[in-house]
Amino acid sequence: MYKDKFINVTRSSMPPIEEYVEEITDLWESRWLTNYGLKYNILEKKLCDYLAVENIAMFNNGHSALEVALSSCDLSGEVITTPFTFVSTTNAVCRTGLKPVFCDIDKESLCIDVNKIEKLINEKTKAILPVHVYGRVCDVERIQEIANKYGLKVIYDGAHAFGVKIHGKGIGNFGDMTMFSFHATKVFHTIEGGAIAYRNRGSAKLIKELQNFGLNEDGDVCHIAGNFKMNEFQAAMGICNLKYIDQNIKRRKKVFERYLERLSHIKGIIIPEKQQNVESNYAYFPVIFSQKLFGKNRDYILDKLKLHNIFARRYFYPLTNEYSAYINLKYKAEDTPIAKNISDNVLTLPLFEGLTVADVDNICDIILDD
Ligand SMILES: *Cc1c(COP(=O)(O)O)cnc(C)c1O
Repeated sequence: MYKDKFINVTRSSMPPIEEYVEEITDLWESRWLTNYGLKYNILEKKLCDYLAVENIAMFNNGHSALEVALSSCDLSGEVITTPFTFVSTTNAVCRTGLKPVFCDIDKESLCIDVNKIEKLINEKTKAILPVHVYGRVCDVERIQEIANKYGLKVIYDGAHAFGVKIHGKGIGNFGDMTMFSFHATKVFHTIEGGAIAYRNRGSAKLIKELQNFGLNEDGDVCHIAGNFKMNEFQAAMGICNLKYIDQNIKRRKKVFERYLERLSHIKGIIIPEKQQNVESNYAYFPVIFSQKLFGKNRDYILDKLKLHNIFARRYFYPLTNEYSAYINLKYKAEDTPIAKNISDNVLTLPLFEGLTVADVDNICDIILDD
């Protein structure tokens, strides 16, 4: 069926090429290609509106945004986080000189289990770094209560959560800071790119210094920092893509709902429940296979889809602390049994705005066919 056609887990959304060309045309005249130019400023304002947040800083990618978010909190010690994420989250903790302490996840939300955070807190604990994994939201209220009780910072990895709202409130308003990724494979992209939404307006100066060599407004270098600025071509892509974001999310929703229709009643295929009072961005469609009930395991389905040129992905397998770079960490995969179990059995099915209902039906037929 798909001999001449590949279906990947995701596909970058593209604005009409004429619109991008038009958007970048004035960059030739201005010759201002980066360093907080016109496009940067336009996109910054549009994103504050769209995400319904007060303050934002934009970066060359989401990972550097997360590192700067952590650095700007001036922490040393331990950070409680989740191993069920893209490795960027754990890398950011370690690369900023902090120590990750892994908390298990909740089997409904797939995010950090708020009932297991407190017993990991000690005098070295400085922050909590939860992930809104798949755009599913963490228990933001409970996390804030714990943070307040122990005087901890809360920095969210919201790489998957662009446009998500809780009770109508933008996801970037919770905790001290939230990182968003605008990578080509994400719901909204600037080719590569990312942002931090932050609560305290007073952090603006430090964040800007930390993304621009540590340079301050007087030309002094007051921190030893790298270069993580978003350039004008990235910002122009963001301006173009933002026009289509609502339409794209609507199309994703259709795909998502078709998967639900076809798979939600199947014994042994577990689909995480829709979260109450959450406006979703339909970023991913994760399914968890129970071999006992379904008869076939995750890797069997992955390979079977591959034979039809359909490339689902094992997001997120393995857990970050199972990678060889992390073999010396104190916290092992066995210490987070729910995360381990889900990671071993989860598959993320193709989901992007151009996927058709017929494509979804084909994918489901292959999964369900004996
Ligand atoms: C994509 C992603 C990142 C990193 O974002 P980039 O923009 O690719 O640097 C961080 N955390 C998670 C959970 C991600 O999925």
